[in-house]
Amino acid sequence: MNLIPVNEPLLNGNEKKYLNECIETGWISSEGPFVKQFEELFASRMGRRHGIAVSNGSVALEAAVVALGISHGDEVILPTFTIISCAAAIVRAGAIPVVVDCQPDTWNMDVSQIEAKITPKTKAIMVVHIYGLPVDMEPLLILANRYGLQIIEDAAQMHGQIYKGRPCGSFGAISTFSFYPNKHITTGEGGMVLTDDDNLAEHCRALRNLCFQPQKRFLHEELGWNLRLSNLQAALGVAQLERLDEFVLRKRHIGQRYTELLSNIPSLQLPLPQTDYADNIYWVYGLVLKDDVPFDAEEAMRRLAQHKIGTRPFFWCMHEQPVFRNKRLFDGVSCPVAERIARRGFYIPSGMALTDVQIEQVVEIIIKILK
Ligand SMILES: *Cc1c(COP(=O)(O)O)cnc(C)c1O
Repeated sequence: MNLIPVNEPLLNGNEKKYLNECIETGWISSEGPFVKQFEELFASRMGRRHGIAVSNGSVALEAAVVALGISHGDEVILPTFTIISCAAAIVRAGAIPVVVDCQPDTWNMDVSQIEAKITPKTKAIMVVHIYGLPVDMEPLLILANRYGLQIIEDAAQMHGQIYKGRPCGSFGAISTFSFYPNKHITTGEGGMVLTDDDNLAEHCRALRNLCFQPQKRFLHEELGWNLRLSNLQAALGVAQLERLDEFVLRKRHIGQRYTELLSNIPSLQLPLPQTDYADNIYWVYGLVLKDDVPFDAEEAMRRLAQHKIGTRPFFWCMHEQPVFRNKRLFDGVSCPVAERIARRGFYIPSGMALTDVQIEQVVEIIIKILK
């Protein structure tokens, strides 16, 4: 059997055609027409007024944090169970990340734990939707409103997901996306900041482009970065976006098929198919080993690799990161649920190009390695 990779994108729509257009017209930098087109199409698809395309999802978060004026001494609440990009954006802005634990079934931040973490220094909540189900936004929005907190919504795993009829990526002051090849749509490397606010949009555009000024180009009032997305990348984005609905259906099919085939294995915790506010979009298909399994995720992944099945570990908690512990950022913090799933959880092949036959092969080997 050939290797079944943890992810493989599908690039067989208009990708080649639009890339050829870039090369034939000579428009390859961020000045090309696909960038604006991609921004407008993506923003409107997500129900936002402005889209600012950037070079990846991590810098989208950096720009969002700075654009909201979050800086020294401010506190931002976020899930501990997330990617380093979230906490890094907060720390690099000089602010303090304050983590909450996640729920054992959805793996998303436990919204009921947020209020206890709010202090006079709290400026914002960074919401991160994890793996396939959105965070329960309604109580979170009420809380943020009551305490006057900003919301940054990291929707990098939620392209096309809906929370109670509203697109993920349309919540709060600013939302961010990534277009890395394992996301629902990809530009190779890429990201987007979305907002409805004209001033925030303009600020993000300036931050993306070194804070050059329209009148006096080389006079700088603020430090920005070069976060620009190229026309080549945006061409891929436009082609991929044309197929988002199909890709969402494909991911849901993969998720449902895995669930059908794995649900009679008692020692595995599977992703929830739905909650009362959303259906799982299965960005990835995660598994958590129950307590009766005598080994942890690392050993399970090692065994699967021996059978040529690609996997990835679950996130490692932010409060357990050496780089932050060394900064004494999370002294005394414990988040037992996230700590447990970080050690017992991993995800299996769930890319867009995964076939039904491959799904069955993966399941067969999972059953074998658990014996
Ligand atoms: C992928 C991802 C990012 C980072 O995006 P990159 O484009 O890889 O920098 C940020 N947040 C979440 C939740 C992600 O899944």
